[in-house]
Amino acid sequence: MSRQKKFILPESEIPKTWYNVMADIPEPLPPVIHPGTLQPIGPDDLAPLFPMPLIEQEVTTERFVPIPDEVLDVYAMWRPTPLIRASGLEAHLQTPAHIYYKYEGTSPSGSHKPNTAVPQAYYNKITGVKALTTETGAGQWGSALAMATNHFGLSCEVYMVKISYHQKPYRRSLMQTFGATVTPSPSSLTQAGRQMLERDPDSPGSLGVAISEAVEVAATSGGAKKYALGSVLNHVMLHQTVIGEEVIKQVEMTGEYPDVMIGCVGGGSNFSGFVFPFVRENLVNNRKTRFVAVEPMASPSLTKGRYVYDFGDTMQMTPMMKMYTLGHSFIPAPIHAGGLRYHGMSPIVCHLYDLGLIEAVAVHQTAVFEAAVTFARSEGIIPAPESAHAIRTTIDEALKCKESGEEKVIIFNLSGHGHFDMAAYDAYFSGQLHDYEYPSAAVEKALSQLPQIA
Ligand SMILES: *Cc1c(COP(=O)(O)O)cnc(C)c1O
Repeated sequence: MSRQKKFILPESEIPKTWYNVMADIPEPLPPVIHPGTLQPIGPDDLAPLFPMPLIEQEVTTERFVPIPDEVLDVYAMWRPTPLIRASGLEAHLQTPAHIYYKYEGTSPSGSHKPNTAVPQAYYNKITGVKALTTETGAGQWGSALAMATNHFGLSCEVYMVKISYHQKPYRRSLMQTFGATVTPSPSSLTQAGRQMLERDPDSPGSLGVAISEAVEVAATSGGAKKYALGSVLNHVMLHQTVIGEEVIKQVEMTGEYPDVMIGCVGGGSNFSGFVFPFVRENLVNNRKTRFVAVEPMASPSLTKGRYVYDFGDTMQMTPMMKMYTLGHSFIPAPIHAGGLRYHGMSPIVCHLYDLGLIEAVAVHQTAVFEAAVTFARSEGIIPAPESAHAIRTTIDEALKCKESGEEKVIIFNLSGHGHFDMAAYDAYFSGQLHDYEYPSAAVEKALSQLPQIA
């Protein structure tokens, strides 16, 4: 029993820069398009929603972006996060694979989301913004932003997807503890919400609708409020690379190098932050790591979506991005991994997927919960249902190694803990959780409503 379990970096090793994969990709990212003019948008188009430092980060091609000291001070509350050898899971599976996980559940709100919530609150603060609006699915992003805005003295208004608002009441309490106001979406407070309720009074809501509401409130506030997004956008992927930059140092401590890296994808941010520094190693230093993005079968944008221009929100208020999309009007089934219920995907992740630099798979939720329970019982950590998608695919890869006898090194990102998701575990244990088949008819219908861009 001499195998090392945890690989812990000292606080002085928190990365001082974020990594921008745009500096190294072989082809530039397709531009974001203004829905009115159909021309690429400029900084002025985004200025009503975001402060200028974030707009600059959205388009920069600098390879490394310095992390401000004020942000590093807050990161130091929980960073660096541990890289952990999944020795219990390896023994349980009897696999020759070496499995590790990066654990982002040690943050104040229990996921990777504060990695971007903190800098977003910070840049808004230093540019004089007083209030932020946002959406949240399972409540992870809302909790993270509530914590961050509270730290920097901003107020915070959260539109929470209605199904999650009811499934996860304690996430709401967490946001309220940090001083945020939380409204179930669709709500009657916005035009977007009222329109949605007219279409379907019983709408469970979706990230796409909640984004419309939060964007509308910021855009019509006359500059008093700005909007913050927890995933999808380039600056969010950038901030999350603090994860992978730590993993780069931690794999050195293990003396191994990953053959496969696995992360779940909703909007793509934890996966991006975890793998982009290793994508750089593939592109620049000829490494050969495989990167697997795992999505839910109920909302499989990469594996089943179309790579076209679409809106980021349901009510067509955002600029149009080229992404793998199921159609902005598609409302995913109410699976328990609320953070993965999104019709689109980060344009950078989509671009890398299109270029063949990363892979994707879709999995069903009962298989995901089976993996979550196996992991909890062998490693002692209860994973968020979102993160458990990555565990499912990790177990599948490890079982393939068992068959082939290969000693592969597999690392996955455990994006958060599941302490606020016990109702979902309850549903699983009582046999009430079922799989949603890929909703091909609903997706076909949503895809027929895509904007027509040449
Ligand atoms: C929000 C969330 C996700 C999904 O969002 P990404 O931007 O794809 O990372 C995954 N895991 C957890 C724990 C989350 O809170």
